[in-house]
Amino acid sequence: MKRRLTIALVAHDQRKADMVDWVIFNSDFLSQHHLVCTGTTGTLVRQALDRRGVNADVECMNSGPMGGDAEIAAMVVRKEVDLAVFLIDDLNAQPHEADIMMLLRQCRVHNIPIACNRYSADLMITSTLWDDDTYVPMPPRYEKFDRDESGL
Ligand code: PGA
Repeated sequence: MKRRLTIALVAHDQRKADMVDWVIFNSDFLSQHHLVCTGTTGTLVRQALDRRGVNADVECMNSGPMGGDAEIAAMVVRKEVDLAVFLIDDLNAQPHEADIMMLLRQCRVHNIPIACNRYSADLMITSTLWDDDTYVPMPPRYEKFDRDESGL
């Protein structure tokens, strides 16, 4: 890939093992990009890459429950994030549910690709569209569907 991306990485506690595995699996790719993480996720990602001798650019925000998701959501709003990998614990309640919803919502509103499982994340980071200068992502349209104008 020619472009250097800013990739947000967030994993809830019960998903951190999955995130570390994913990061190791993709370490060559991730070492070429800027990684922005919630606090604990970022510390684990950095350690996992360090231990394998991979030099990576990892920036840590606050821990998720202390506002890390909110900080990353603010970056999404400012268009400072190209792609997010967000491994959510869907089986246990989280104290910062509101912030989780906010991060997901802001990615949708600002048309930022967000992967909530490893398979989606693998597909996203291997997309050839990142380097396709002719490709223009279509932003979401918030408008009423008009049957007459739709041609149906
Ligand atoms: P953490 O935050 O990486 O600091 O654990 C993740 C989260 O719970 O959103």
